[in-house]
Amino acid sequence: MNIVLLGAPGSGKGTQASLITEKYGLPHISTGDMFRENIREKTPLGVLAQSYIDKGQLVPDDVTVKMVAERLSRDDCKKGFLLDGFPRTLSQAQALEKIVKVTCVLDIDVPLEKLLGRLTGRRCCEKCGESFHVSVIGNTEICPKCGGRLYTRADDNEATVQSRLDVYVSQTASLIDYYKEKGVLRRVNGDAPVNEVFAEAEKAMGI
Ligand code: ADP
Ligand code: ZN
Repeated sequence: MNIVLLGAPGSGKGTQASLITEKYGLPHISTGDMFRENIREKTPLGVLAQSYIDKGQLVPDDVTVKMVAERLSRDDCKKGFLLDGFPRTLSQAQALEKIVKVTCVLDIDVPLEKLLGRLTGRRCCEKCGESFHVSVIGNTEICPKCGGRLYTRADDNEATVQSRLDVYVSQTASLIDYYKEKGVLRRVNGDAPVNEVFAEAEKAMGI
């Protein structure tokens, strides 16, 4: 199973990625998480990535592709993997094609007008990495899953979210047609409770 998760920022990609990879024992490769880890550790890649992420722009393709190629070359990816947040441009998709064969692309479909509120109301856990919405958990600072501290991601403010959504529409959304033509695209309705989206995703992937 070489899976790609497509979907706009705030579509629930990360949540579904965790559920799928935990249940099926696949490595969860999130480019956003990899960049954030580099930012925390203040690596040269992190310093570069932060200048783009803070503005809601994409990190340049050459840097991103190199990072993903290295990750996919590790042994744990031999039995399959799930990519979350990559590819996000046509050029990334073409580069990926040269490295591995993608067997299933899952598009999590959420109406664009719902995404802004989902992202600005998002709270993430420092400890387990899970994210939650204030409309569900209220104004708490404690993670309902593990008790860790919750924070708001620096790029979840309204201005940055707006440019992330613009970037999605102008650069990433066309990948839906790209993978449709290749016959590997599966769509699920992401405008539903987490467990329902997960059930639909499993059915769509045929697992
Ligand atoms: P979301 O999907 O909610 O926007 P991510 O954590 O996947 O969040 O990504 C956060 C940011 O990291 C993006 O806005 C972008 O700047 C950068 N990023 C992540 N994946 C890629 C990618 N494949 N190519 C370029 N930049 C990326
Ligand atoms: Zn937690």
